[in-house]
Amino acid sequence: MPDHGTLAERYAHVRAGLPTHVQLVAVSKTRSVEEIRALYDLGHRAFGENYPQELRDKQPLLPADIEWHFIGHLQRNKVKYIAPFVRLIHSVDGPELLDEIQKRAAAADRRIGVLVQVHIACEETKHGLDANEAEALISEWDGQRWPSVELRGLMGMASNTDDEGLVGREFRGLADLFDRLKKGARAAHPEFDTLSMGMSGDAALAVNCGSTLVRVGTALFGPRR
Ligand SMILES: *Cc1c(COP(=O)(O)O)cnc(C)c1O
Repeated sequence: MPDHGTLAERYAHVRAGLPTHVQLVAVSKTRSVEEIRALYDLGHRAFGENYPQELRDKQPLLPADIEWHFIGHLQRNKVKYIAPFVRLIHSVDGPELLDEIQKRAAAADRRIGVLVQVHIACEETKHGLDANEAEALISEWDGQRWPSVELRGLMGMASNTDDEGLVGREFRGLADLFDRLKKGARAAHPEFDTLSMGMSGDAALAVNCGSTLVRVGTALFGPRR
């Protein structure tokens, strides 16, 4: 995907590459509110941020109908910054974080959607549960314990490599787990419908492997400074 042209051209190009059933979340970490506003003015509404305080500070400066996604690693003591407005947290990695999201969602009198982040990359640095842990958490999902949390699906980040064979295997492994849970443990829950995988460099491959949501920053806003 090109990093030249106008924002409108890049947006049109990214959109054109995605089937209509795939949601585009514009990753706006480190971008100014003016840059976000420019994409908003082109009609875009779903934005993703990685840092709780950065999101807390930007949110009140931007239109209230933006659908905010939190896609970065989330520490329990930072949930409070985003709980009043966040739509979907992509990075849930265990019951303790869920307890905190539950507490803050209930206090804000709202429900918060979550994805369980699965570690699919070879690198040690990527966060998330391994596939077995994720499957156990979801199979034993405690709706009584987390009534204000809506389990919407899975998120994963592939290895940062040019090896498309490897990335494809990682994405397909996550898509298989998603399908298994959809037909099994979450069969009675149609809201379990979101598979968040794919970024600027690997969005097309992720979509081919079954992604329903891509998180794209650089291909929309250009290289991060
Ligand atoms: C930064 C980031 C993205 C977007 O990356 P680009 O390569 O700029 O598209 C997507 N997902 C996560 C979790 C990120 O941290």
